[in-house]
Amino acid sequence: MKSNIIDLAKSLGFSEIKFAKYQKLEQQTKNLKKWIDNDFHADMDWIKNHLPLRDDPSLLLENCKTVIVFAHSYNNGIDHLPVEGYGKIARYAMGRDYHKVLKNKLKKISKYLESKKIKTKYFVDSGPIAERDWAVISGIGARAKNSLILNKKLGSFFFLSTMLVDQEIEADSPVLDMCGKCTKCIKACPTGAITEPYIVDSRKCISYWTIEYRGETLPKNITENQNKWIFGCDICQEVCPWNNHKNILNTEKEFYPRDNTTQLDLLESSEISEKEFIDRFAGQPIIRTKFSGLKRNAKSALNFVI
Ligand code: SF4
Ligand code: SF4
Repeated sequence: MKSNIIDLAKSLGFSEIKFAKYQKLEQQTKNLKKWIDNDFHADMDWIKNHLPLRDDPSLLLENCKTVIVFAHSYNNGIDHLPVEGYGKIARYAMGRDYHKVLKNKLKKISKYLESKKIKTKYFVDSGPIAERDWAVISGIGARAKNSLILNKKLGSFFFLSTMLVDQEIEADSPVLDMCGKCTKCIKACPTGAITEPYIVDSRKCISYWTIEYRGETLPKNITENQNKWIFGCDICQEVCPWNNHKNILNTEKEFYPRDNTTQLDLLESSEISEKEFIDRFAGQPIIRTKFSGLKRNAKSALNFVI
């Protein structure tokens, strides 16, 4: 069964597939609670609301025995070259919305398993599942000091998704540490958001402010250090020695930039109408920041006083 799942997932474009034995995540939940108690989650209250379910996957799938973790590369070998008047978007957001693309792939794996009378429930970077913790337990990769997951082959330029199943499948071994003494990401973060190794304070993170925040203006610490990032921020990944920028490992066409767009014209983005925004970005991750968010981010990058 294990090799059938791996073969099927690889044929669908997943880069790595690992298996973890069901367990409650008591220590991981305690760590997350501490992070929330420090207000590092900013206003992302859904993280707090998901706590009870994150702790125990059997509340999501009755009789859960195994958690399967899938990694899918989005490394297209594209670098962010500075272009006058253009704003940067995080690599993961250049193509089509990964939630939809990966869910379609997981649906095929789920159908196969259900045909063998195995019950499944799957998630793509949403829902109350501790994806990064399961990635570590299953051996997909190690927790990185920038709080992402590092995989020896993929670096951190990959999407994570998980599938719960009610059958025991041989588990893989965790990967414990890949950062060693390196602190490059901590030093490179322009806003000091990595407050200590493995801890990111969202209230200082450009990704949080340019994607999740719904207010009208960005705070001074972000505007001053925005470096033309208008959707997300890849700085702490770009400096990581595990990320080989030129190593094209993505095989999914949908994750390549739509219309070859890797950067956005700042002036155009700061004046975009709601209709233009929807026409242009429907089905892409950028839609998450909403029309008002993209305008705000572009204006801020242009150093406009809003
Ligand atoms: S995404 Fe950017 S702002 Fe956030 S921790 Fe990484 S480097 Fe810092
Ligand atoms: S830059 Fe260094 S410390 Fe940061 S995630 Fe990469 S290896 Fe770890």
